[in-house]
Amino acid sequence: MANERPKADVVIVGLGWAGSVMAEELTRAGLNVVAIERGAWRDTSTDFPPAVDPDELRWHTRRELLQPMSVETTTFRNKTGQQAAPVRNWNAFQFGWNVGGAGTHWAGMSWRFLPWDFEVATQTAERYGQERLDGLMGEGLQLQDWGVTYEEMAPYYDRFERIAGTSGKAGNLNGEKIKGGNVFEGPREREYPTPQLKDTNWMSMYRDTTEGMGYNPFTIPAGNISQAYVNPLGVTMGPCTYCGFCDFHGCGNFSKSSPQACILPALMRRPNFTVLTETEVLHAVKHEDGKTVKGVKFITREGEEGFQPADVVCITAYQMDNVRLMLLSGIGQQYDPSTERGTIGRNYSYQTCSSVTGFFSGAKMNPFIGGGALGVQIDDFNGDNFDHSDLDFIGGAGIMGYSTNGRPIANMNAIRPGNKRWGSQWKEAYARDYQEVANIFCQGTSMPTRDAYLSLDPTYKDRHGQPLLRLTFDWNRNDKSMIDYTTQKAIEIMREAGGEDIMVDNQTEASWNPYKQHSSHTIGGLVMGSNPATSALNPYLQSWDCHNVFSVGASAFPNNGGYNPTLTVGALAVRAARAIHETYINNPGPLVEA
Ligand SMILES: Cc1cc2nc3c(=O)[nH]c(=O)nc-3n(C[C@H](O)[C@H](O)[C@H](O)COP(=O)(O)OP(=O)(O)OC[C@H]3O[C@@H](n4cnc5c(N)ncnc54)[C@H](O)[C@@H]3O)c2cc1C
Ligand code: SF4
Repeated sequence: MANERPKADVVIVGLGWAGSVMAEELTRAGLNVVAIERGAWRDTSTDFPPAVDPDELRWHTRRELLQPMSVETTTFRNKTGQQAAPVRNWNAFQFGWNVGGAGTHWAGMSWRFLPWDFEVATQTAERYGQERLDGLMGEGLQLQDWGVTYEEMAPYYDRFERIAGTSGKAGNLNGEKIKGGNVFEGPREREYPTPQLKDTNWMSMYRDTTEGMGYNPFTIPAGNISQAYVNPLGVTMGPCTYCGFCDFHGCGNFSKSSPQACILPALMRRPNFTVLTETEVLHAVKHEDGKTVKGVKFITREGEEGFQPADVVCITAYQMDNVRLMLLSGIGQQYDPSTERGTIGRNYSYQTCSSVTGFFSGAKMNPFIGGGALGVQIDDFNGDNFDHSDLDFIGGAGIMGYSTNGRPIANMNAIRPGNKRWGSQWKEAYARDYQEVANIFCQGTSMPTRDAYLSLDPTYKDRHGQPLLRLTFDWNRNDKSMIDYTTQKAIEIMREAGGEDIMVDNQTEASWNPYKQHSSHTIGGLVMGSNPATSALNPYLQSWDCHNVFSVGASAFPNNGGYNPTLTVGALAVRAARAIHETYINNPGPLVEA
């Protein structure tokens, strides 16, 4: 084939968190790795020096770090039978578009999922009876276990936390519950690498209020590092200055966990690692027998096509792109909701969220002191941490009082109801309310349904003539009931804290649409599991259909936890990479028998 590159042991498609973690593990094990990234090179000193980093107009309003819609978008519809239309503006989720991926401009909330999240089906049946599980499945939910338990994941979470330098306080050390940490978390074997962040005024108020109500507040584990730290790869990070320009921005301070700050300085020095930037993978190419792939076809920025041969192909191109690349490569069978056959595109979910805003007359909330992951949360109503016997839903939400950012442009609508939104009255109201506003956010679970899925769009194509990914999704009854219940708890907390003029935004009150952002977390479509009839990947994230294809990302989650996804993505990446270099490379074939 024209422009064929030398063969690699492993080719990595997309160099965000998942790709960087895998490349680090695999090159350290001695394998020859080529990463192909469609975005440009970015590093802290050239792209995000402190003078440039807090440019809200450039990074947050104009979203300059995100992938342009002209490069790729998705189409969307609420249900099968509707005509899907292309999404023209990034809101409900955003695509990364540079070396480091969205890990460059994420907020940094660094959660382990609950043990329950990995075994939703089994644990629901065990606690509430098989009949209850059957009932939920009967109304269209597709509940299934991940094929891996929290206990199996714990060492990989630990490894990713050490690389990222995550700040926090343990709430469950080897089974011992510790007040002040998250007492609902699964057991961890040691403390976080760096201590928890400090409280802002609102966080202290939220902590005191929720504690007084009998709940268990704790500081959110953060990829905004609380003190200087040297990670196991020898990379040094600096303490967060609570600058308030975090998500959608890079961090000029070397304080936010990111591939740039934590992995690339070590990875780029390794002679067995190569990265091709501004080069897009079009699809993987199969061998004649269709059982394995021989490499990937790519196109450079100049429009030149090429081929990268490799023994193993790792698709780490973000949740949506992972699914699309599998479909474009003809690996596995497209999920069909009418027959329930096929696994690619199955179990798509979003995240069910709401927010409650209150105003505190005369308060000095000082929201310009902030961090991407700065907040206090209660998990008393998350996952299965509370009794659902008398409730008509499963799952729950973390309920957080946050101080994530006080960006002046984005906050200009956060004024009391009844005020004009323009002119001198708006200016007066904004000057007052900027200091007096506070938010509570419910970040909830999301359960997949039979009717929500991803597929290739029959009409719309990208600039290379390949079909766009089509999203078919709407809120389901279970998730709506869950968020109604947890939002009520958030309102009670806001009232108890003394918030006035309370405003509630529950996203599920209207049909889902991609133009509203409550969460950037979109999951599923290429899910892991132990049954090839209901999962695309085995528990090591290896394709059931092509054994030398592995895919890592939130695409592998069969259901969404009430948390942000990235720590789980990173932990799964470590686990998949170890399975490749410890087992697969010496003995290629399925790691799990179908
Ligand atoms: C504003 C924002 C805030 C967030 N905050 C949080 C948070 O607080 N906590 C949390 O846990 N998560 C958060 N997230 C989510 C988090 O960023 C993602 O979970 C994480 O970055 C996913 O890592 P990834 O490696 O799977 O994908 P990405 O980081 O998206 O990396 C994938 C890479 O693949 C490249 N790529 C895609 N297709 C191709 C192709 N065909 N060829 C070559 N390259 C390709 C992309 O350019 C990209 O660089 C946030 C996301 C955003 C956008
Ligand atoms: S808040 Fe902290 S981690 Fe985020 S950009 Fe500012 S200094 Fe960096």
